[in-house]
Amino acid sequence: MSGESGEAIFIEGGRVLDPRGGIDGIRTLVIRDGRVAEVAERVERPRDARTVDARGKWVTPGFIDLHSHLREPGQEYKETVASGARAALAGGFTAVCAMPNTVPPCDNASVAELVLERARAAGLARVHPVGCISKGLKGEELAEYGELKASGCVAVSDDGRPVMSPALMRRALEYARAFDLPVAVHEEDLSLAGKWAMHEGPAATRLGLRGMPSQAEEVMVRRDIALAELTGGRLHVQHVSAEGSVRAIREARKRGVRVTAEVTPHHLALGDEDVARSGYDTDFKMCPPLRGETDVRAVREGLADGTLDAIATDHAPHSLVEKAVEFDQALNGVVGLETAFGVCLDLCRRGILSERRLIEALTAAPAGVFGLPGGGLEKGAPADVAILDPGMEWTVEPDRFLSKGHNSPFKGRRLVGRCTHAFVGGRLVHEISRGGR
Ligand SMILES: [Zn+2]
Repeated sequence: MSGESGEAIFIEGGRVLDPRGGIDGIRTLVIRDGRVAEVAERVERPRDARTVDARGKWVTPGFIDLHSHLREPGQEYKETVASGARAALAGGFTAVCAMPNTVPPCDNASVAELVLERARAAGLARVHPVGCISKGLKGEELAEYGELKASGCVAVSDDGRPVMSPALMRRALEYARAFDLPVAVHEEDLSLAGKWAMHEGPAATRLGLRGMPSQAEEVMVRRDIALAELTGGRLHVQHVSAEGSVRAIREARKRGVRVTAEVTPHHLALGDEDVARSGYDTDFKMCPPLRGETDVRAVREGLADGTLDAIATDHAPHSLVEKAVEFDQALNGVVGLETAFGVCLDLCRRGILSERRLIEALTAAPAGVFGLPGGGLEKGAPADVAILDPGMEWTVEPDRFLSKGHNSPFKGRRLVGRCTHAFVGGRLVHEISRGGR
């Protein structure tokens, strides 16, 4: 089944969960000409119509990831636009935002156009390029935001690096405001962070590893909130990990500052004690690091109450040689597209998050943060749809990932909840096979 345009597809018997449209109940979703034609309790359908049986499953808008590293151009041994887009679909993500720290970085139209061209050629998930805040990610000179926006970039970010100069950050917010681009920031005061391998706390002391305090993030979040307030720019805080950051963002939003935020599945699910338990496993090393208990509790609460808008994966594939080294030598980053739903659904079962809020944080919320299409099942919208089996048990086996990256801290875990089908523009572009791939 390919879902050619013109032919209708009836997705029947599933729980349609569309937080933006206020829908939560057993419905039939009808796709026609690649678009959502109808979401209804009772639908007349021709006897020979193409149907998908979604009984026992959830039917949701396709997930949108605000934060993926697809590594192309330049590091295709880690991931390509095509392999990343394939991994995205396996996780229920029908659209991903590609971070600009490629080689060369996406600080001009030609790189953004190449990423879009590779995505078109792959014909899988939608890919939205993110441009650099500064030329060459150097933090010295602003990139050309008009050119980036015109070539399809949906935000600017120097992700992987903080913008250390407050003056440059001010100008970035002002300049981006003229093009209505969000400025997405990796918050880490490098002088306060120092040379670090994990979160600063009792676990780091015990392991004899150098730690980075949560405040290295918080002080930058507070600085940039002040600058967003000064400029009226749109600030988006990436991968929030610290209690103080959550508090600062919550207070700023109450004052009306234009600040949004995201949190990763791994910062929601894991903490610094998991680094200890893993025995220095470098698949537990990322930036920001897995934090202490109070931080983990705070990001969970922040996600539940909407202070942290979206769940974003920070999918960061690396090759084995970059990870099979000593802990403090290993590169930062973990893959996340294929495990995000299963990992986060566990928070619902534990009463930390409602199912509606979980789906909102993966669909309507990220669409709103970057102003992207999708995120809902409105009539006439392109049919980007995920079908999820919330009861499917599976074991995370990185060798079977569609991503080229195998660096997952969830390897070996039993997860419950998995995407079984994904549609992009009404085309069935992912269907789980019996082998679970
Ligand atoms: Zn980052």
